[in-house]
Amino acid sequence: MSAGISLAQRVAQIAPSPTLSINAKAKSLKAQGVDVLNFSVGEPDFPTPPHICQAGKQAIDQGHTRYTASNGIVELRQAVCERYRKRQGFSYDPEQIQITSGGKQGLYNIFQAVINPGDEVLIPAPYWVSYPSMTQLASGVPVTVPLKEEKHFDIDAADLARYATDRTRMLVLNSPSNPTGAIFSAQALQEVARLALERGWLIISDDIYEELVYADEPAAHILAVAPELKEQVILANGVSKTYSMTGWRIGWCAGPLHLIKAMNKIQSQSISNPVAISQYAALTALTGPQDAPREMLAAFLPRRDFFVSALNRLPGVHCENPEGAFYVFPNFSAYYGKSFKGQKIDGSLTLADYFLDEARVASVPGVAFGADDFVRFSFATSLDTIKEGMKRIEVALAALQ
Ligand SMILES: *Cc1c(COP(=O)(O)O)cnc(C)c1O
Repeated sequence: MSAGISLAQRVAQIAPSPTLSINAKAKSLKAQGVDVLNFSVGEPDFPTPPHICQAGKQAIDQGHTRYTASNGIVELRQAVCERYRKRQGFSYDPEQIQITSGGKQGLYNIFQAVINPGDEVLIPAPYWVSYPSMTQLASGVPVTVPLKEEKHFDIDAADLARYATDRTRMLVLNSPSNPTGAIFSAQALQEVARLALERGWLIISDDIYEELVYADEPAAHILAVAPELKEQVILANGVSKTYSMTGWRIGWCAGPLHLIKAMNKIQSQSISNPVAISQYAALTALTGPQDAPREMLAAFLPRRDFFVSALNRLPGVHCENPEGAFYVFPNFSAYYGKSFKGQKIDGSLTLADYFLDEARVASVPGVAFGADDFVRFSFATSLDTIKEGMKRIEVALAALQ
């Protein structure tokens, strides 16, 4: 090692977010003039709706440019409560809401507030990339529990019970899921709720894609199937995906008062408060016209349908139909062991590299989500891009021997 400042051990345990770094690589190739089709992006391809941008500009003009309460402005916390009451019938007091710098920072606060060294966190895999790292940054131990493709990536209480120990403190649920797009069934959630009640686990429900559901009914939710679990559930959500506001960095958590208060302490000693201007824009997002998610879904649907059927037509490839979010997660393991010009494809990492180098298609290797048989493609991009991308993928796969 060089003679620099030595780093904390916790840094060595984690890697930078792979989705952000692949996106950066694709963007830099594009900047060099390489014709890359970018399917690695984890954000909607629509601008923030104009009335929300207007609210941000107005917030500046009205002088909302100073510190706010650490847990967020009360109007926004009230709007979050009102949203839960109206949409799901969940009842929260504004004191039970923490406004955060994106859903991600809210999740980070939860881990910091709950996990002691050695505490285990059950993380169903495929998982969102940050859950294991957030666990480790809190000195906890991530325990991944594989979900089965043949069961449409539904959660399974019996599997959770097999991986649980007396050090298990927490379970992370994400439905609709990034990366699979799967929605957990009400029945499976009911069984999970029963287990969590019995064991006293805290459940994080990461609901960031709850508005992006293709069926007519909303996704089943752990608190809707088991209201008696309320003291053991913390909800994480935000405006990033629903309103195409990823750069504004506003999210929230809702949960038991003592837990939110602990998270408020952490927040007040770290970020102080989420950006004031963005909080006012988010207030307009929640209380203004609700066309944005509907319009996005209408655009995403034909893309999803094309992508899924084109992938399933490829020999040896299987792709589940995502029920929510904007990702497809096809299984390419039939190609592992094959080679191109003597270079062997031995897993999702080499396959995603091969797609980028030979097909100029940027994707995220499944290994980043704890599922090496798969590769994630985002369909938050135009139908034309998807059609061209599928042609390139087909050619690249056919060239493998
Ligand atoms: C995008 C995302 C988040 C949080 O995004 P923010 O931009 O920080 O609000 C949280 N969970 C999952 C699964 C996501 O995909």
